[in-house]
Amino acid sequence: MRRMSDTHRCDAIVVGAGIAGATAAAHLAETHPRLVLLEAEDSAGYHSTGRSAALWILNYGPPDARALSAASRSFLESPPAGFSAAPLTRRRAVVFLAPESQRAHLAEMVAAGEGLEWVDPAEIRAAVPALRPDYAVAAAIERDAFDIDVAALHQGFLRQARARGGTLALRQRAARIARTGGAWRVETGAGAVFAAPLLVNAAGAWGDAVARLAGLAPLGLQPKRRTALIVDPGPYDCADWPLLNDADHTWYVRPEARRKLLVSPADETDTEPCDAQPEELDVAIAIERMRQALDIPVTRVEHRWAGLRTFTPDRSLAIGAGEAEGFFWMCGQGGYGIQTAPAAGRLLAALATGRDPGPELARVVPLVDPRRFARGGGAR
Ligand SMILES: Cc1cc2nc3c(=O)[nH]c(=O)nc-3n(C[C@H](O)[C@H](O)[C@H](O)COP(=O)(O)OP(=O)(O)OC[C@H]3O[C@@H](n4cnc5c(N)ncnc54)[C@H](O)[C@@H]3O)c2cc1C
Repeated sequence: MRRMSDTHRCDAIVVGAGIAGATAAAHLAETHPRLVLLEAEDSAGYHSTGRSAALWILNYGPPDARALSAASRSFLESPPAGFSAAPLTRRRAVVFLAPESQRAHLAEMVAAGEGLEWVDPAEIRAAVPALRPDYAVAAAIERDAFDIDVAALHQGFLRQARARGGTLALRQRAARIARTGGAWRVETGAGAVFAAPLLVNAAGAWGDAVARLAGLAPLGLQPKRRTALIVDPGPYDCADWPLLNDADHTWYVRPEARRKLLVSPADETDTEPCDAQPEELDVAIAIERMRQALDIPVTRVEHRWAGLRTFTPDRSLAIGAGEAEGFFWMCGQGGYGIQTAPAAGRLLAALATGRDPGPELARVVPLVDPRRFARGGGAR
């Protein structure tokens, strides 16, 4: 029989150690040093965080994601001393290409976007000789986007959380959650029990499942599978190519190394929370779409994977208090969980501790308030 002394009493419990849980833990541990970060898997970052394409693009996602991305930029470009041994970013322009049928959409994007400018497709072809001359009738470029070293960012936040007193507990899947005596009591599948007045749900695709465990209404989170593969770029050295995609975002390619090109069909297939695996059909579609734009013979796929991008019903993030005391959401990171992470963690910690998040983040608060769904707003 379990005794009370078996319960680990903490200041805060964070469920899920992907990028969302890691940044939440790092920021929250400043005021809640006895923090435990529970992760179901053998390693942190096994699911979406370890499978991303690692890009920061300002002109991407809904307004809250753009604002959080903008607010994350200075951290990513100049992290605090000791956060990472190597730089977290590497400059990489992003090019949007428009065949005739997408010209009007691209014009809308340029008009609405920030720092997105028209560029002659011939200029892109000079940098990317594989681009077929007849593919794009128009192109736009975001010049100061960048690659993110996701592993370094994730590890940096985990290290920061530990340095501030937090503990990462692997192979500890939250299995039962209840509010008793002014605290959240979490029992894991491994039999450990943790209790804290504050609980952060950063369980990614499993966010609704964790809310249900706590007896709370789900938000309607929808995990969507996305596929990626690595191919050899044939006769080309692609290291300095920009990221290329079409205006409708039906495919993209991003260099991984001189002779490695990441290709994705930008798929969004609804799925249950799971260890996502690539489907052969999506791999074939990725190659076919890429080959319409780029003259690259694909003889072999070096590596393929899939990951889940989990969205709320309105595709904005869900950061903030839930319907029960001491329960906070840090979910719905969608396709922008890496590039928004520094500011998202800062915002979560401010909201959980009742601090003013500052003017830059204050305007995001209503957009990401998880209670918008309970009020019937936001769904579309
Ligand atoms: C192919 C692809 C490309 C992408 N490209 C980009 C990009 O260029 N830029 C960008 O910003 N984003 C990108 N993303 C999105 C980004 O990867 C996600 O938004 C982000 O990783 C989500 O992080 P997370 O921490 O919410 O989820 P996860 O990393 O999935 O973490 C959630 C964790 O919670 C754990 N968990 C679940 N239930 C429990 C439980 N009951 N108890 C304990 N632990 C639990 C899981 O094991 C998991 O480790 C991409 C995603 C994919 C798949």
